Amino acid sequence: MLNKIKSAPGRKKTTFSILALVLGISLVFYPYAIVKGQEAFVTDRKIVIDAGHGGRDPGSTQCPGLYESVANFQIAELLQAMLMDAGATVYMTRDMDGNGEDDLADDETLTNADRYTYANSTNSDVLLSIHLNGSLDHTKNGTLGLYSMWRKDKEFASILHERLADELNVPDLGIYQFMSGVTMRFNGPASIQESVYISNTEECTALTDGTGNRQQQIAESLYNGLNDWFSAEREVFISPGQLK
Ligand SMILES: [Zn+2]
Repeated sequence: MLNKIKSAPGRKKTTFSILALVLGISLVFYPYAIVKGQEAFVTDRKIVIDAGHGGRDPGSTQCPGLYESVANFQIAELLQAMLMDAGATVYMTRDMDGNGEDDLADDETLTNADRYTYANSTNSDVLLSIHLNGSLDHTKNGTLGLYSMWRKDKEFASILHERLADELNVPDLGIYQFMSGVTMRFNGPASIQESVYISNTEECTALTDGTGNRQQQIAESLYNGLNDWFSAEREVFISPGQLK
């Protein structure tokens, strides 16, 4: 009995080392481990994605060749695909006709009322409004989260923001209250995330390099933030449903 107990930790150690090695190798060779490797808590959730601006409103025009409205939509579509892969139902404010085009000519100019009226009609759990910040100072960069109402939105904004601040490799500009018509009038938790500054020289270069990699990184961080919000551990504190 004593011998068995003595030998057990050795075997456990070996088993653990092998498991750690296998996990390490699979993480190295599996590029989307951050997204796909974790349990999907967004499954069966209903999520509104609001890509900011559009139509006659380009948003920030401080990145030559890429309007903020277009970049927002590119990120929104990547996020939509990830969420749908994970079994979530996604409603896009700027894709109401379902044609999936990110061509501004096909895009309607939506008011805040258009956006929240549509969003509320879907009876979704949360609303995420995707924006990129803009400044005439092209050295400025950082990630900023916005919320309208404390009880309804602040915790949601901070959970999303935490992921962006951890993963996007830009300064953490914190979360602020901002009375946006879209987030304020949505029935559930809602947040605007100004993920990075599109006007920043390096950021603009990355977003227009044709690979879509930066858009993908931003979409993945937003996905991770949404997944955190719906995760089992979070429901111990506040259930997303209770905030409605
Ligand atoms: Zn914007």
